[in-house]
Amino acid sequence: MDVNGRDSLDLVVVADLHYVGRAKRTCPILERNAHLGNELLRRALRRLELSSPPDVLVLMGDLVDDGEAPGAEEDLEALREELEGLSFPVIVVPGNHDGDPDRLLSTFGDRPGVHEFEGYLLLTFVDWYDPQDRAERSGDGLKLVSDVASSHPGVPIVALQHNPVYPPIESTYPYNLTNFREVMKAYSESGVVLSISGHLHRGHELTYADGVGYVVCPALCEEPFRFLRITLRGRDVSVREEALKLPEEPSLVDVHVHTHYAYCASTVTTSGAMERAEKFGLSGIMFTEHAGQLYVSSEDYWSGRFMEEPHLLRRYRNEGKDRMRVYRKEMEELRSSFVKLGLEVEIDRYGNLSLLEEDADGWDLLVGAVHKLPQVHSKDEERGFMEVTESLLKNGVRVLAHPFRFFRRNGMEVPRCLFRPIARLLKDYGVAAELNFHTNEPDPDFFETCLEEGVKVALGSDAHDLYEVGDFAPHLEFLRRLGLEGDDMKEVLFFP
Ligand SMILES: [Zn+2]
Ligand SMILES: [Zn+2]
Ligand SMILES: [Zn+2]
Repeated sequence: MDVNGRDSLDLVVVADLHYVGRAKRTCPILERNAHLGNELLRRALRRLELSSPPDVLVLMGDLVDDGEAPGAEEDLEALREELEGLSFPVIVVPGNHDGDPDRLLSTFGDRPGVHEFEGYLLLTFVDWYDPQDRAERSGDGLKLVSDVASSHPGVPIVALQHNPVYPPIESTYPYNLTNFREVMKAYSESGVVLSISGHLHRGHELTYADGVGYVVCPALCEEPFRFLRITLRGRDVSVREEALKLPEEPSLVDVHVHTHYAYCASTVTTSGAMERAEKFGLSGIMFTEHAGQLYVSSEDYWSGRFMEEPHLLRRYRNEGKDRMRVYRKEMEELRSSFVKLGLEVEIDRYGNLSLLEEDADGWDLLVGAVHKLPQVHSKDEERGFMEVTESLLKNGVRVLAHPFRFFRRNGMEVPRCLFRPIARLLKDYGVAAELNFHTNEPDPDFFETCLEEGVKVALGSDAHDLYEVGDFAPHLEFLRRLGLEGDDMKEVLFFP
C-alpha cells in the first residue's frame, strides 16, 4: 500500500451506545439509557458537524445492547441511517453486545483489518469472546500487527479493539483481553502509536506503557454522555473528552420548547422533553406552543388566515373546536419549579396578539415571533417587521423568538440596518433576544448590538424534535465567540 499524506489525524471516538429501539429486549441497567442510543449518536454527530468535523469517526462497539435479540438488526439499521450524509468516514469495531461481528460490519459497510487515513494506519480487531465474556486476541490478530508494521516501515499505527488492553482493570468482570500481555508486546515491538478501546464504561485516561499510548473511551450512553476527540501529530497524541451533558455553570433554561400540540412537531412530547432537559443538564424548561395553532386548523394557520381574520379565533372557540384550553390544562398539571408554561404568540393584521382576551393571563412566559407578516405589510416588509415586532413587545412578550429569521426563511436579505433599531426596542421594553439555531443561523453582529444596548439573551432550542432539547452547545459556543465567559455570560443570560 502506498501511504501518503500529511502527518496529522483528527479522530473522534464514540463507544458503547447500548441502543435498544425496536429490538425485543429490556436493558436491565437504567444508567445505560438504552432507549436514547440513536439520539445520543445523533446529538454527537450534530456536535461534530457544527464544530470541527474529524478526519474519521470510530464507533468502538456495543452499538446495541443485545445484538442477538429479535429485531436488533433494525436497531443497527437505525444507527446506520444516522450516519448517512456525514462529511467524514466511519470505522466500526464490533463489541461483545453486538451479536455476529460480520453482520455488524456488513450493516455499516466496513471490514476488519487495515484502514488508511492521512498517512496513518488504523487496525480494527475482531477479538473472540468465550461464553463468560472473556475476550482473546487470536494468533492471526497478533501477527497482523507485526505484518503491517514490517510492510509499512515508519507509518504510524493505531490499534482499535472493543476491550481494554492496558492498564489491567481490577474487577471480577474480565474487562481486559485475557492475553493482553502478548498484545502489549506485539504493539510495542511493532511501534504502535496508540491503542483505543471502549467496553469499560467509565473510560480510562491516556496511559503509556513501553512507548505505546493506551486510552479507553467512556460510554456515550451513560451520563454525562462523553466521547473523545483524539489528535495525532506525528507520534504525538492528545486526547480531549467532550460531554453532551451541559456544564453545571452557568445554569441554563430552555425558553422555547414545542409539544405534541404543534402541527409542525415531529417527535417532541412533553414527557420526552422533560426527561431530556434533566438528563442533559438544563435547570428549567418552558413549553411555549404556537398559540395560533392551538386555536385554528392547520390550514387556517399555515395560510395566515388566522392573522388576516382574527375573529376566527372567537369562532373556533364558540364552536368548541380550539385546543387552547386543553393545552393549558395539560400543561398546568406539569407546572413545577422546573417546568413552566407559555405560548409562542404572533401579531394579527390589527397589531394585536393572536390570543383571545380570556386566554391572555396566567402564563409564565410569552415568546413573541414573526413567522409571517400580515398582508397589510406586503408593500414594505422592513417597516412591517419593525411595526409587528414593536406590537409584540408592547403586548407583554418577554422574549423575541429567533429575531430576523423571517427574512432568511423567506429568501430575503437580512436588513442589517434594523439591527440597532430592534436592539433599542428590545432594551426599551425590557425584552430578551432569543438565540435560536432551529433552522436558523443567528447573526453575531445583531447579538453584538444587543449586548451593546444591554439586552438580555435567552436560549431557546425551539425543539420540534426530542434530540433538540437541551442541545445548547452551539449557543454556548456562539456566546464564547462574542467574548462572553463565566460571570460575563451569566450576566447577559435571560432568566425567566
Ligand atoms: Zn458496553
Ligand atoms: Zn413550529
Ligand atoms: Zn417555535
